[in-house]
Amino acid sequence: MRVLGIEGTAWAASAAVFETPDPARATDDDHVFIETDAYAPESGGIHPREAAEHMGEAIPTVVETAIAHARERAAAAGENGVPIDAVAFARGPGLGPCLRIVGTAARAVAQRFDVPLVGVNHMVAHLEVGRHRSGFDSPVCLNASGANAHVLGYRNGRYRVLGETMDTGVGNAIDKFTRHVGWSHPGGPKVERRAREGEYHELPYVVKGMDFSFSGIMSAAKQAVDDGVPVEDVCRGMEETIFAMLTEVSERALSLTGADELVLGGGVGQNDRLQGMLAEMCDQRGADFFAPEDRFLRDNAGMIAMLGATMYAAGDTVPIADSGIDSNFRPDEVAVTWRGPEES
Ligand code: ATP
Repeated sequence: MRVLGIEGTAWAASAAVFETPDPARATDDDHVFIETDAYAPESGGIHPREAAEHMGEAIPTVVETAIAHARERAAAAGENGVPIDAVAFARGPGLGPCLRIVGTAARAVAQRFDVPLVGVNHMVAHLEVGRHRSGFDSPVCLNASGANAHVLGYRNGRYRVLGETMDTGVGNAIDKFTRHVGWSHPGGPKVERRAREGEYHELPYVVKGMDFSFSGIMSAAKQAVDDGVPVEDVCRGMEETIFAMLTEVSERALSLTGADELVLGGGVGQNDRLQGMLAEMCDQRGADFFAPEDRFLRDNAGMIAMLGATMYAAGDTVPIADSGIDSNFRPDEVAVTWRGPEES
């Protein structure tokens, strides 16, 4: 099976080809091709209108590159005919103007090749790519991305949100701080570099029940820099505080569900310190931890194509007439058709 995936919820105009003999589990013969054109704001953070302009220019090119790749794979396999079995696209959550371009492109390609369309929830794709590549059965998943932060567990046919941010997404909080100190977007990698040179500076630690809040930390971090605390120390304090909060809630989710597997997803998941803290926590409780490669953590169409293939194999396709985007699409709204309801 060969599925084309299209992603474009915010900054990544991305198209991918995922080819597999068995969409239900990772195999040695799986093949993933990803072509991404990233939007980089000249100043400030992600501007929805500029991001949509970028999407409009970049999506046709990355999609045509992926289709050309699918044709090459088909030719090499001696196939002649349509090079893809289905088109999967990120239906939400994300920026509406960007999602509309992705939806339009996906519908056009599905019609051009007369193949089914699969509407993928971007957050579920962030976690399913880790489940798929780890081979884990039923992990707790931590999504630490730009616009979101969720801890999820699967029960009775849905990914249940066990904990989530009460205000801003975790990456967005970091990026707002770095904008304040004048660093270009994205701020996460810069905070990671500078934190290595800093001493811990205390910031508010806010976990309420199973939920977390980042906006107070962001304000306190900005204030600390304005008060003359070295920026390296504030970066170190932000990492230690935010990642300890994410680790605490992930640990409680493991304890609550009885799961012994944890999967990480999302762009902030590329951070070595976060991965280290989660790995250590899992090690201490005898749980397994898995973080996919960086190219599958940040936004990418590979995860959309991969989950698209699994959904397509389960018959979970969407008619073009019902394929509207949903900028507030929550992961717990997705009926998980590709896993049995009896699985927990
Ligand atoms: P979402 O997936 O919720 O829609 P998003 O579209 O912003 O979020 P992602 O690619 O998941 O995209 O995450 C991007 C975020 O990851 C940015 O906020 C960026 O600063 C952050 N980030 C990237 N690398 C690192 C790093 N090494 N450490 C911390 N944060 C990082």
